[in-house]
Amino acid sequence: MADLTLSSDGSMASTALPQLAIAPAQVVRGAGILATAGEAISRLGKRPLIVGGDRTLALVQPQIASIATNFELAISQATYGADCSEASLGDLRQAVSSHQADLVIGIGGGKALDAAKLLAYQCRVPVVTVPTSAATCAAWTALSNVYSEQGAFLYDVALPTCPNLLLLDYDLIQLAPQRTLVAGIGDALAKWYEASVSSGHLDQTLIIAAVQQARVLRDLLLQKSVAALQAPGSQVWREVVDASVLLAGVIGGLGGAQCRTVAAHAVHNGLTHLLQSHGTLHGEKVAYGILVQLRLEEMVQNNWLAATSRQQLLKFYGEIGLPQSLADLGLMDITLAELARSAEVSCRPGSDIHHLPFEIHADQLMAAMVSTIAPISEPKSAASREADRADLAIQPSSE
Ligand SMILES: [Zn+2]
Repeated sequence: MADLTLSSDGSMASTALPQLAIAPAQVVRGAGILATAGEAISRLGKRPLIVGGDRTLALVQPQIASIATNFELAISQATYGADCSEASLGDLRQAVSSHQADLVIGIGGGKALDAAKLLAYQCRVPVVTVPTSAATCAAWTALSNVYSEQGAFLYDVALPTCPNLLLLDYDLIQLAPQRTLVAGIGDALAKWYEASVSSGHLDQTLIIAAVQQARVLRDLLLQKSVAALQAPGSQVWREVVDASVLLAGVIGGLGGAQCRTVAAHAVHNGLTHLLQSHGTLHGEKVAYGILVQLRLEEMVQNNWLAATSRQQLLKFYGEIGLPQSLADLGLMDITLAELARSAEVSCRPGSDIHHLPFEIHADQLMAAMVSTIAPISEPKSAASREADRADLAIQPSSE
């Protein structure tokens, strides 16, 4: 992760940021609230630039048009292109300056929101986030992921503040494919499996709070996700949306830079370097990455708890439709060379995979990546190992 300051040409330089960025200044949530958010938006700016994908921009056109009329806003729109990349950020900065925008409104999924947040920071204007799916907590966090033009993960950027306003409109979220909420559940689950490994031993108050909230978040998701997915728009569905979009964001905010991601996201980052992985969502790859991380703990540390957690998650993934294996991610036909390339990216110096409490090499990671659905065998007790040896000793020779 790069903490940043901005130079006059829009490029970024690393520096330490001592401040906390825990939560958006204002969160408004409810069914259909986007249409009624004109006043909150107009307090932040009069010339907003809306950043989104083509599909999303068409979707919210009626609400945006009525807000513009009622609150006398001069609105311009720009698409973020295929990804939150340095090139598309350059184009968006041009759009900000030619519109003389005094506010950025990001509407869309994680990539649109990441682009909007980073753009607003670079242009020193406030930002509103309007998530159109529950696939990530990007609407909440002070973090943007930057990708290559080809969609490969490059680096993430820590922003000094969370968004000025988050508008969580359940009606918009409900229009998104169910699969996006499933992916959001996968991404949110990772908070516990990663935070407990990277930060479970730390004794700072806010980190302890973040790790404990991550456990609560996991439990909520394990308990409520199946019911939520069966009843989109229901109260339990909203609770799971809140968990994936808001509570996951709270944990990122409380934990900050010290509550880091570990192998689950590192595996995701490696997979994005395979073109064949681009058909799956961030949270789907991360969910698979959790299984890989548990498998690593199992293989390298003989960690029995990790093995049972993996079995518990495999059952849960089966119930809600998260990928359990490379095959489920559509990566059944990748070559060994491609698997190695993905693993090498995940293991390169500075990768979050090195927050694991043991050293890890790409070949070990490859072994874990192809064995996420392997059954576990009961660990043998000393007594039964002794009995095995006794059996061997009395085996008659077959020769
Ligand atoms: Zn994530």
